[in-house]
Amino acid sequence: MAGNWKMYKTPAETHAFFEAFKPLVAQATHCEIVICPPFPDLHAAMKEAEGSNVAIGAQNLYWGKEGAVTGEVSGHMLQAIGCGYVIIAHSERRQYFGECEPDVVRKTQAALEYGLTPIVCVGERLEERESGRTEDVLGEMFEGGIAPLAPEQFAQIVIAYEPVWAIGTGKTATPQIAAEAHRFIRGKVSARFGDAAAGDVRILYGGSVKPDNVKGLMREEEIDGALVGGASLDPKSFAGVVNF
Ligand code: PEP
Repeated sequence: MAGNWKMYKTPAETHAFFEAFKPLVAQATHCEIVICPPFPDLHAAMKEAEGSNVAIGAQNLYWGKEGAVTGEVSGHMLQAIGCGYVIIAHSERRQYFGECEPDVVRKTQAALEYGLTPIVCVGERLEERESGRTEDVLGEMFEGGIAPLAPEQFAQIVIAYEPVWAIGTGKTATPQIAAEAHRFIRGKVSARFGDAAAGDVRILYGGSVKPDNVKGLMREEEIDGALVGGASLDPKSFAGVVNF
């Protein structure tokens, strides 16, 4: 269960979140719990999460180790502060910063090189779903961004299916719609990396997941977890998702 804080919270607010959140999920052993705060909060989050069952991830990385790349943060730096995960190609990064499939490959490989677990996002926009292109879009994202990975690299990634029309809109995909997309993605995995890899890969669903709809989603065998935006900002509501 991964929380994406997007561009919310200061270090002081991060501290307050963890104070409230940690006791609420202390008994949770059924899943990994990950919080992905903005870069300036990572240090505070790492300190707060120390010795707990909560891991910390970043929301983005650059593929080089270091260099003249103003405004970017590398996997090497994230590894050095003890970060364990990184979100790659969130739809907001695709939409506002033009991230595309070659970036996904470079970023995923860089994350793995520095010991970070990449959470690679794919998902169709509303007009793509409405025009019946969901599978084409997911297929293109898979072929361009994930299929080029070596099998041993693929074995270490987590995929997040996030239909763009469901992100931050309050419109959750029904469990059936989400499961159908997950099944399609798993089929692509099977064709490229084999049945064992398709069985093993974790595919998270993301898009307006909340305490009151998480149960229905998690009942689907295809859905292995959730990537949660808005509902991860509040300790009680993210704990409600984790402890579904
Ligand atoms: C997200 O940011 O990845 C997300 C799924 O957001 P929300 O839960 O707010 O729809």
